[in-house]
Amino acid sequence: MSLSPARTERFARHIVLPEIGGAGQAALAQAHVVLAGLGGIGAPVLQYLAGAGVGQFTLLDDGDVEASNLQRQTIYTERDIGHGKAVSARRWVANFDRELQVRIEDARIGSGNARELVGGADLVIDGTDNFATRLAISDACVAVGVPLLSAAVGRFQGQVGAFAGHLPDQPCYRCFVGDAFDAEDCDTCAEDGILGAMVGWTGSFAAMQAVRVLLDGKATFGDPQWGKLHLMDGLKPGMRTLTIGKDAACGGCAGNAR
Ligand SMILES: [Zn+2]
Repeated sequence: MSLSPARTERFARHIVLPEIGGAGQAALAQAHVVLAGLGGIGAPVLQYLAGAGVGQFTLLDDGDVEASNLQRQTIYTERDIGHGKAVSARRWVANFDRELQVRIEDARIGSGNARELVGGADLVIDGTDNFATRLAISDACVAVGVPLLSAAVGRFQGQVGAFAGHLPDQPCYRCFVGDAFDAEDCDTCAEDGILGAMVGWTGSFAAMQAVRVLLDGKATFGDPQWGKLHLMDGLKPGMRTLTIGKDAACGGCAGNAR
């Protein structure tokens, strides 16, 4: 696939990078990303991946925009307050780049519908804020063979990890967190507080890691870094990286173990 002159101009700063190039840009245009959670992480992820020319999005969120979201959820404005996040996010994309295809779903994501929502994607990016949803998404990704990029923030600690638990030698997100959080719990953002720029840092880093995954085998920047968990400390500030091992007894992916 070759890009039109207008698209070539739009993405000129990518194309001139040897690590991406025309082939990488064409691959991004062909990519389908499912973005679960359109909050503080999802907003910058969407902005940077739409900016990068990812051609197709499925946007998932069952919430409405609230005034307290505007401090960090950068795609929304005052006129979106009271409207659904999914429909507001779709409107943001339509204003930004009308050539990008967007499908939205405003049902709550759970084990009953997650497989259907993530099936067929090249990558799922999870920016949801509770463990029950994250585990349902992870299990669905393993089941349908789609890689997962997980991003989360608690106070001044961010984390971004890439998982390919459907592969026999790679861990899934459940290998990392275990089964302890299966119960509905743990949405502590409202009580704990969060600095807008901290989720912005985590979300923009997640967008960069997403480009790595999408360009795997397509351009030299492509390097999915499966099983690597990047931890960001906003107080120090600094970053470090952990390697997650596959749990041979994992309830999500152990059936795929060698
Ligand atoms: Zn696992």
